[in-house]
Amino acid sequence: MAKETTTKKQWDIVIIEPRCKGCGNCIEFCPRNVLEFADHFNKLGYHPPRVKSPDNCIGCHLCEYLCPEFAIFVKPKST
Ligand code: SF4
Ligand code: SF4
Repeated sequence: MAKETTTKKQWDIVIIEPRCKGCGNCIEFCPRNVLEFADHFNKLGYHPPRVKSPDNCIGCHLCEYLCPEFAIFVKPKST
């Protein structure tokens, strides 16, 4: 019988800042309000996202799917 666990899976959110064009899709559509715009600009002159609530991420990959620049993805946290 499979052992049940209550440990919540943790996710790393990887942002490739130089690719970001600041469209805000990842911020707007994240169902858990994990992301926000950073204050700084990247080399292209856009505000990239930053992670404000890492523990809220459920690994749904929506940010990844909706990013037109392939500038963000999530992966299971390595322990
Ligand atoms: S994987 Fe889902 S919950 Fe996590 S940051 Fe992306 S959109 Fe938000
Ligand atoms: S969806 Fe991609 S291009 Fe748009 S703000 Fe997020 S990381 Fe940047």
